Amino acid sequence: MPMKQIREAARTVPVVAEAEVLVVGSGPGGLAAALGAARAGAETVLVDRYGCFGGVITQVGVEGIAWYRHEDTVEAGGIGAEFERRARELGASHKARRARGEALDAELFKVVADKLVQEAGIVPLLHSLAVDVVMEDDTIRAVVTESKSGRQAILAERVVDATGDADIAYRAGAPCRQTPKDDMMGVTVMFSCAGVDRDRFLEYVREHPSTFSDWGKDWRIKTTGKEDHLFTPYLQEPFDRARSEGVIPEHLTSIAGTWSTLTEAGEATSLNMVYMLGYDCTDVWDLTRAEMDGRQQVLLALEALRCYAPGFENAKLRNFGMTLGTRDSRKIVGRYSMTERDVLEQARFKDSIGIFPEFLDGYGLLILPTTGRYFQIPYGCLVPQGVENLLVAGRCVAGDRISHAAMRNMMCCAVTGQGAGVAAAVSVRDGVKCGQVSVGRVQDTLRKQGVRVD
Ligand SMILES: Cc1cc2nc3c(=O)[nH]c(=O)nc-3n(C[C@H](O)[C@H](O)[C@H](O)COP(=O)(O)OP(=O)(O)OC[C@H]3O[C@@H](n4cnc5c(N)ncnc54)[C@H](O)[C@@H]3O)c2cc1C
Repeated sequence: MPMKQIREAARTVPVVAEAEVLVVGSGPGGLAAALGAARAGAETVLVDRYGCFGGVITQVGVEGIAWYRHEDTVEAGGIGAEFERRARELGASHKARRARGEALDAELFKVVADKLVQEAGIVPLLHSLAVDVVMEDDTIRAVVTESKSGRQAILAERVVDATGDADIAYRAGAPCRQTPKDDMMGVTVMFSCAGVDRDRFLEYVREHPSTFSDWGKDWRIKTTGKEDHLFTPYLQEPFDRARSEGVIPEHLTSIAGTWSTLTEAGEATSLNMVYMLGYDCTDVWDLTRAEMDGRQQVLLALEALRCYAPGFENAKLRNFGMTLGTRDSRKIVGRYSMTERDVLEQARFKDSIGIFPEFLDGYGLLILPTTGRYFQIPYGCLVPQGVENLLVAGRCVAGDRISHAAMRNMMCCAVTGQGAGVAAAVSVRDGVKCGQVSVGRVQDTLRKQGVRVD
């Protein structure tokens, strides 16, 4: 049955800001886009719906920005590397347990992001949900936000959609696609604990080390084989025991997963142990259900840890992530769409705006960049169809399912973000539409900003 509808009166709204480049969303993609644009000389406004910048890092609590890194990994450079470096310098990271990267301190990264935004002279606007666009033919004239101040508009010459869900592209009428709900990657309510006996837990891990081959057994994830012997901070056994002894219902087979930082103060943070399928994160009813189901599953996971993971006997819930973690939702249909072949066969593009190592995590595949293999990322996958002054950054860039398993990773989102931000700034400076920008000039600016372009 069609949904009932009600007509809203048309409104005139105040203009709160004007930008040469407006970036909506401040995850790894949006933060890098805003920094890239501002450093390329554009007056830049950065908007986010929540009270902090950082996206999945700070709002969900994901720490593993560089957990893929191995000896021979080829790095993208640029602002993603700067996130890690600045976090380390400001005491907002810990040495990662897996591979050679930093695990970000998701709380302190809020301050790292504030500093980066302020130093670059970006105009920040938090607590503002972008809800609509005002179009003039094929051009976005303004983005409309809702906040405690009411409904407001931001005028923009160029817009970068870094909402993760391609909200702006969708509202502007650009073609988008979504994997069917039942085939999408799962969602997660992340959590952290206090009261963990770190030494006791680490002793247990030493006695029961997990490798990526365990992901294959339990999560039905395929590797190339070279990953199988590598250590991963993954826990399965306590949850299997909890299921067999009735602490967790047997059908909840997806409770299991990775742990991250263990502090001397007895905190275990970024516990990624609840993976739930069948939710569409562009549907507010599904979001509601996922948040509530996720919290219930976290309590079950915690009970299983208390019962069967040595060191967690007295663990208490410290916090849930501020919001549900979404891995997969809407993506644009771009001028170019990344393919499985591109990310698996070291694609090269004339319009490359950056590179990413051969690292795939998702849709049943795990490939770690233990070799020097990498692929280039073309400008075309940031360019939507039918909207002249819009670019897209982060996990909603154009691509197929398997390419998403690579492109969704935070460092890759920073690459597409910086590319989109710089391209938006260059297109303002040169007075050309986003789709007609000189890629050579974009590449020159990116190189000056420390990006490895080819
Ligand atoms: C549980 C979980 C674990 C993960 N683990 C890892 C990992 O270990 N390593 C890794 O590399 N990747 C990991 N990922 C993937 C990675 O975190 C994301 O794919 C990546 O953060 C996406 O970046 P983004 O900038 O595109 O979007 P996001 O990080 O989602 O940021 C989007 C931003 O836009 C804002 N926003 C959204 N809509 C609007 C709107 N309409 N108006 C205003 N603001 C809006 C949001 O508040 C948010 O700040 C994980 C993801 C999840 C969910």
